Amino acid sequence: ATPTAVTVGIGRGAELGVLIRNGEALEVSEKLTAIVFDKTGTLTRGKPDVTDVVTLAVPEERLLAVAAAVEHNSQHPLAEAVVRRAESAGVTVPASERFTTFGGRGVSAVVEGTEVFIGNRPFLEEHGVTIPEGAERRIAALQDEGKTAVLVAAGSDLAGILAIADTLKPTTKRAVAELKRMGLAVTMITGDNERTANAIAREVGIEDVRAGVLPQEKAEEVRALQGRGEVVAFVGDGINDAPALAQADVGIAIGSGTDVAIESGDVVLIRDDLIDVVAAVELSRKVMSRIK
Ligand code: ADP
Ligand code: MG
Repeated sequence: ATPTAVTVGIGRGAELGVLIRNGEALEVSEKLTAIVFDKTGTLTRGKPDVTDVVTLAVPEERLLAVAAAVEHNSQHPLAEAVVRRAESAGVTVPASERFTTFGGRGVSAVVEGTEVFIGNRPFLEEHGVTIPEGAERRIAALQDEGKTAVLVAAGSDLAGILAIADTLKPTTKRAVAELKRMGLAVTMITGDNERTANAIAREVGIEDVRAGVLPQEKAEEVRALQGRGEVVAFVGDGINDAPALAQADVGIAIGSGTDVAIESGDVVLIRDDLIDVVAAVELSRKVMSRIK
């Protein structure tokens, strides 16, 4: 490969807002066969809002107050949505102690002497919370709408459900359609549950979905695809995505994402626009065809 063409390609990328960290990333991008997208903050905006408050044991204001007391300790986008909702409802948030985070599953803390658990269903069940049948149906219905059902329990009693929805970025559907048209196999990966993940994937136009993936398992999914002979790009924004970005043949980090993700990327997208993933692949194909 002539070094000049690669240098010109890297310069052209910079003009497009696609920062290519090394010439190898440009060369490998031409050979890509598969592209894996993180869901939250990558395909979606990552700024979710509480859309439904389902009360089971306590009034709505109390549910929001207790949930916010725990979640104000967490930096997770779901936690920020809960705190924002409590603020807009004008509730007084009580103090909390012994906050603990269970990566990719949920959080807990003691509020006014009671241990409160907030998170997904397996997480609450592990802590001895039983989910009544009526609540179970409600959860499934919310998830089929693409919403994440965040369960709130005080001790072993389910107190309520907060449905939280994130919207797709404006160009997500178009970018995915383009990449498929270019012959790439597109996969979505997420720590979110299967029903919610499938509803979002359907909206985006992605058929291959890996849901309920724990943070440390994202890189393993990439390695498994590589084991089947795929040349894989991973696109992500979060701390959880850093190992997968490093494992991928080409790691593509969203520039507005977390520092750890950006440091792990071979390619960094300056604008928060997935069309630039298409631009990066097109650029590498153009540059490499000029070299051959
Ligand atoms: P993603 O891969 O979609 O960014 P995560 O791996 O961060 O998701 O989290 C996976 C799941 O764990 C969430 O969908 C949620 O059910 C639960 N969870 C994680 N952190 C929290 C939190 N602070 N509050 C409530 N639920 C949480
Ligand atoms: Mg993310």
